[in-house]
Amino acid sequence: HAKQFGSNTVQFYRDSLQGGSRERLLLEAQLDKALVRGELEVFYQPKLNVAANRLQGAEALVRWRHPQRGLVSPASFIPLAEETGQIDAIGAFVLREACAQARAWQQSGVAELRVAVNISMGQLRQDDFVEQVGAVLAKTGLPAHLLELELTESQLSDDVESLARVFLRLRALGVRLAIDDFGTGYSSLGYLKHLPVDVVKIDRTFIHSLDGSGRGGDAAITRAIIAMAHNLGLEVVAEGVEAQVQLEFLREHGCDEIQGYLIGRPVEAAILANRLRGQAAQQACAMSD
Ligand code: C2E
Ligand code: MG
Ligand code: MG
Ligand code: MG
Repeated sequence: HAKQFGSNTVQFYRDSLQGGSRERLLLEAQLDKALVRGELEVFYQPKLNVAANRLQGAEALVRWRHPQRGLVSPASFIPLAEETGQIDAIGAFVLREACAQARAWQQSGVAELRVAVNISMGQLRQDDFVEQVGAVLAKTGLPAHLLELELTESQLSDDVESLARVFLRLRALGVRLAIDDFGTGYSSLGYLKHLPVDVVKIDRTFIHSLDGSGRGGDAAITRAIIAMAHNLGLEVVAEGVEAQVQLEFLREHGCDEIQGYLIGRPVEAAILANRLRGQAAQQACAMSD
């Protein structure tokens, strides 16, 4: 079960979340300490640009390195942090960390990688969220076009107008915006017309059953999402790609980027950096051939 949520993470807090308020309070207090003690870490999962066959992006995914329990999945503590408001501090940490990392990779010549950071609706609703993002970009020196913010579709509110105003201000900074877990959250697609976004990420539940035959509801939905997004001038990313046949299907239908265990699991920054250096070396060889 635990494996479902990423590499080597455990889900020991599921019971706590569903349990009584005593456990919740305990977890909340532990999470506060985790931030202060530096137990939170950011892992990076690469994204492949399908046409260029190159790693061009990475998603930042938070992990809790718990002294007793090992690596804890965000699925075990992000929902609680969203309820308690701790997500503001956690999210700010991940944003800073991810931007600093992407800038370091750019400056050291490892790669010019676009980094994607997950943002909860609670964070976005802070009065100064846009200023926070601007300040992080200024402080780290990361060019805005190398930052992408992912917002989960199911968290988009009915108040599309006020959301659109925040999105416009973020885009004015030069940041890219993505709708995460696309296809699972909303009963109406009308919001896409009003929200200035750049990318949709097809939810992995649709990708899971793709077997290369092109048959079945998920294949039809995947094709439809790609076509619709492209007609709207948006890029499409598929998440949860685990098999070569899925990659082929997505390539055939023009999906722009893919992400999933087939390309790489979420890993520590240093491990991804090694891979990126390898890619850069290969590229250099190919050019001198
Ligand atoms: P997400 O943003 O949709 O991230 C993708 C999740 O799918 C990640 O789980 C990733 O490890 C997993 N995944 C990637 N490729 C595959 C694959 O091929 N197969 C399968 N079965 N799974 C794959 P993870 O890291 O456990 O994160 C879960 C969720 O927690 C994320 O879903 C995101 O909504 C949330 N999250 C993670 N980090 C943050 C953060 O810093 N801030 C906020 N607000 N949410 C976060
Ligand atoms: Mg995401
Ligand atoms: Mg997702
Ligand atoms: Mg997801």
